Amino acid sequence: MEFLATSLLELITQTSTNLPPDVRAAMSIAANAETPATQSAQAFDIILSNVDMANDDEGPICQDTGMPTFLIHTPVGVNQIRIKQAIREAVAEATRLGKLRPNSVDSITGKNSGNNLGVETPVMHFEQWEEQEIEIKLILKGGGCENTNNQYSVPCNLDHLGRADRNLEGVRKCILHAVWLAQGKGCAPGAVGVCIGSDRAHGYELAKGQLFRTLDDVNPDPVLAKLEAEIMDEANRLGVGAMGFGGKSSLIGCKITAANRLPASFFVSVAYDCWAFRRLGVRLDAATGAIVQWLYRDPNRPVERLARGEGFPLTGREVVLTPPLAEAQVRALKVGDVVLITGEMFTGRDNVHAYLMKNPPPVNLNGAALYHCGPVMLQEGGEWRVKAAGPPTSIREEPYQADVIKPYGVRVVIGKGGMSKKTSDALKEFGAVYLNGIGGAAQYYARTVEKVLGVSLKEEFGIPEAMWHLRVRDFAAIVTMDAHGNSLHADIENATGEQLEALQQV
Ligand code: SF4
Repeated sequence: MEFLATSLLELITQTSTNLPPDVRAAMSIAANAETPATQSAQAFDIILSNVDMANDDEGPICQDTGMPTFLIHTPVGVNQIRIKQAIREAVAEATRLGKLRPNSVDSITGKNSGNNLGVETPVMHFEQWEEQEIEIKLILKGGGCENTNNQYSVPCNLDHLGRADRNLEGVRKCILHAVWLAQGKGCAPGAVGVCIGSDRAHGYELAKGQLFRTLDDVNPDPVLAKLEAEIMDEANRLGVGAMGFGGKSSLIGCKITAANRLPASFFVSVAYDCWAFRRLGVRLDAATGAIVQWLYRDPNRPVERLARGEGFPLTGREVVLTPPLAEAQVRALKVGDVVLITGEMFTGRDNVHAYLMKNPPPVNLNGAALYHCGPVMLQEGGEWRVKAAGPPTSIREEPYQADVIKPYGVRVVIGKGGMSKKTSDALKEFGAVYLNGIGGAAQYYARTVEKVLGVSLKEEFGIPEAMWHLRVRDFAAIVTMDAHGNSLHADIENATGEQLEALQQV
């Protein structure tokens, strides 16, 4: 198996940096369907450029490279223990090279292992089969979309849709509800893998397994094929749009399976994956470990570029912000404004927010821009470099955000997916805004960082959770919650909720 290590490293690298052709095609269709010059269309422009940048530079498409999950089929007689060890080594090496972000955190101590290895990480599912070759599939699904997974125990009552019964109509309601609930938190447009039935644990596993199907395949079961087509049509009439900005493209795939259940249980498990749908596979020679075939790819088809222009098309109407910011500057902003930040910003996410509840900040946050980012960082020539740095889901900081804004004077919070009432009230009272970056656009935003000025709390929290001090130029984002109580997220949630009700009445 002299080529096994190289093959695995190549599989991980390609999965993290090069979106598969079926996802590229689905994103291209979704982007072209969007109304030009809308916020969703702007989001697509950045997303598509970001996909090309990641491929050009072999950098992670999104900074959250997720929980590496491998599905492995081996011929009878192949040593699975050896493959397991090789996968662990390849994952550690890919992390060292900055193709994966260190994402494995001890759930008791909170310590990041730094190499993506830990108890039950990476995830590996082994099966034997009668074929001669080894097949390894990999999916990298990040935390933002993982947190939007949902499991329904029917019968149940759903917002805007009423009762979901134990039949296909009830299943349809659950899936639509999950897409509506995700809004922009899972970096829409996304795809759903669904399992009807099974038990709670296996149902989720089977739902995630559906994400290994190509987005353009057709379910061999005509009943499920019909349901998949209906969901695609209805979900794309909801109006969630790219990043939850409102728009025509909310879903790029719906893949459904069914499994037998207990008489007493009826679960509908929905695994939501974001537009950065990173999944690839390889077939390996069982004797040497060399790649004999890539899965999900057509070797005769070159990778098609997706970008329609130069990333974020500027109109000249953008508001330039140079932190530290004064209250009056921030209060002048309103929902829908596009801003370009040039100057200093600080990253801070879950651990930093919890830390600031009990400790003063390690830097002066007065007038500052606080970015909910967990970047991929590498040290090169003694200096830290940003390898991927898109915005992650902000709602996790909702319990803390107001108490960080007010006492420390933060004027700008940057993330994606929006936040709720407590934060909105704090923005209004104190004079601060929430900016929505384009989720997953990790390469695009990494290129806005001119210099890494320093880092705090790295030893305590690890690389993604540390507070990085960055100097950025023309960091583009959209005001989606302003200092006057307005929230694009609340507006879209209400409008799409009404649309759900309308679908219900058809
Ligand atoms: S694209 Fe968005 S949801 Fe997907 S992994 Fe990246 S930040 Fe998370």
